[in-house]
Amino acid sequence: MSAASGSSTRLKIWGVRGSIPVPGLGTVRYGGNTSCIEIRADGELIVLDAGSGIRELGLALEKEFGSRPINLSLLITHVHWDHIQGFPFFVPSYNDKNQIRIFGFNGTDSGLQEILKGQMATPFFPVALYDLPGRIQFETPASMDFKIGKVRIHARRMNHPGICVGYRILTSKGSIAYLPDHEPYEAFKLHSAKSHLLSPEQTQKRAREDRVELVKFLKDSDILILDSQYTDEEYQSHVGWGHGSLTAAISLALDASVRKLVLFHHDPTHDDDMIDKMVKTAQKIAAKSESYLEVEGAREGAEVTIG
Ligand SMILES: [Zn+2]
Ligand SMILES: [Zn+2]
Repeated sequence: MSAASGSSTRLKIWGVRGSIPVPGLGTVRYGGNTSCIEIRADGELIVLDAGSGIRELGLALEKEFGSRPINLSLLITHVHWDHIQGFPFFVPSYNDKNQIRIFGFNGTDSGLQEILKGQMATPFFPVALYDLPGRIQFETPASMDFKIGKVRIHARRMNHPGICVGYRILTSKGSIAYLPDHEPYEAFKLHSAKSHLLSPEQTQKRAREDRVELVKFLKDSDILILDSQYTDEEYQSHVGWGHGSLTAAISLALDASVRKLVLFHHDPTHDDDMIDKMVKTAQKIAAKSESYLEVEGAREGAEVTIG
């Protein structure tokens, strides 16, 4: 793949898990790495999140580009560890020919840059962030809509503990929405800072309004990569944990007229057979809706082309 060829928009999945990497015999088909997605579109190389999957992406990029410089943009959804833990092992950061722009919204008062610096500080890691030879630049977008080259990016706060955004990436060939961590509004469990001040009636009203806005944000996406960590049964005992369930994921995709739903942020306790079952259940629910919605489970190494 060449970042310069603008013929189609391509996506490759490098990490699929929530919470913690789970390598082992039970996860060989879907993969055990935490969140990381690569997108090539309109001459740009865009990486979504820096979970442990970014390590292998880095190795593949070094092999592909050889002595040529790698220019990429890394979009971070939030700083929960499963979305940043791979960054210290991303080899393009260790070569001064490469330029890495890191975009994100402050996860705490100290900001994204301080947090990434923190996870590489002594005694956690032997190389400090500022000692990395790669040209690394942090950018906090002034607005929730911004551009990377010709690619338009829309960001939106998700329903998840702390500050967490989802991204919609609009390319000349189609759009991809990436919402790795999001609890459905349907359970009326809001995670915003002041949500505890709302009455039950106000909470329900806010949740319904937020759901409508989220559908607008996602409307007609070609691909939606969405948090569907739990089965519906499991979700009943995880309400308020900040993650999604199967039925809610499908209903959101249907309401937003999404073309393809990719079930993402697999629970670390779910092995390949369990994810197979969840995908089949999801496909059955989607089929009953008589829509054209395609559903699949995120699998490391899978590639999707649009346009
Ligand atoms: Zn996560
Ligand atoms: Zn999270």
